[in-house]
Amino acid sequence: MEEQVVRPVPRAGVLAIDPYVPGKAKANGGHKLHKLSSNESPLGASPKALKAYRTISELQFYPDGSAGELRTAISEVYGLNPDHIICGCGSDEVLSLLAYAYLGEGDEAIYTTHGFLVYKIAIHAAGAIPIVAPEKDLKTDVDAILERVSEKTKIIFVANPNNPTGTYIPFDEVKRLHTGLPKTCILVLDAAYAEYVRRNDYQSGIELVANCENVVMTRTFSKAYGLPALRVGWAYGPEHIIDALGRIRGPFNMNAAAIAAGAAAVRDQAFIEQAVSHNNKWLPWVVNQLTSLGLDVTPSVGNFILIHFPEDEGKRAVDADAFLLERGCVLRQVKAYGFDNALRMSIGSEEANRDVVAALTEFLK
Ligand SMILES: *Cc1c(COP(=O)(O)O)cnc(C)c1O
Repeated sequence: MEEQVVRPVPRAGVLAIDPYVPGKAKANGGHKLHKLSSNESPLGASPKALKAYRTISELQFYPDGSAGELRTAISEVYGLNPDHIICGCGSDEVLSLLAYAYLGEGDEAIYTTHGFLVYKIAIHAAGAIPIVAPEKDLKTDVDAILERVSEKTKIIFVANPNNPTGTYIPFDEVKRLHTGLPKTCILVLDAAYAEYVRRNDYQSGIELVANCENVVMTRTFSKAYGLPALRVGWAYGPEHIIDALGRIRGPFNMNAAAIAAGAAAVRDQAFIEQAVSHNNKWLPWVVNQLTSLGLDVTPSVGNFILIHFPEDEGKRAVDADAFLLERGCVLRQVKAYGFDNALRMSIGSEEANRDVVAALTEFLK
């Protein structure tokens, strides 16, 4: 007789999660490594942030549970009320807090076909049902989202710009989306790449948050600020939502080094300008080079591009990935995002960008 194993079982939804697979950090062979798989900044972090990080030595004390120094710095630089800001261990934590606070069994949350993978994980983990809205030309399609909204819908997650597509929707469209939502549904605007976007019709969402009771903007220090190792993210929202998130977060969710380095980083906007200028110079350069090789690149306003490969045997994205890895260039396969024949490349240092272009030139010969 077979013995029945009795053991703890996670809540429904937990085992439906495909674990998040981070970008590879290693290449093959003796080549210099260019890690272009996680949209990290080739400029690293501000020297001022590194200096502040190194001042943290009294490790025997708990950090400030409210991350006051960091919230003050953010509120001063962005002109926001610090009571409307919550910090998290990366914006991933803030996204999870939103899901845990507002989603439960039977609720629905919507994101788009190629939306950021963390949304699906957070929705399932909260026991709710993920609903996927199709995109139009790889962009968020406001009408497709609105068509899927019901009284069960509690959160809409929109990355603007989106990862891994690099596309964005203009602020008019964001407002149109918000206008069509029930007042009980939260619109989460994930503006992880906002620093890089220089378009007249783009806004990260600050204005909308300030005027609405159901919009939250999330931001990160992992991209332009160059601090992913420390895990620093934040959200700006109406006080009642920030209050709810504050009740369920860990009492000391931000560590002391993250608070100190984050505060110094946000005050060094000159450094962000450098990161953005570097990107403005090299992103178009890489796109031009790859396009002249005959590759199709989705127009991006972020610090990364989505490169589409030919269907020819031996010239597909998996083949290119292997070829690039042999030459020290680590890009990101995006099958988990629904792209079978594309690679995502973060814009790197001049050397990294040139090495990728040279390798792909050889690959396509
Ligand atoms: C990188 C990224 C984040 C940031 O994650 P952190 O947890 O802050 O490091 C959030 N959203 C999107 C779309 C991203 O690409």
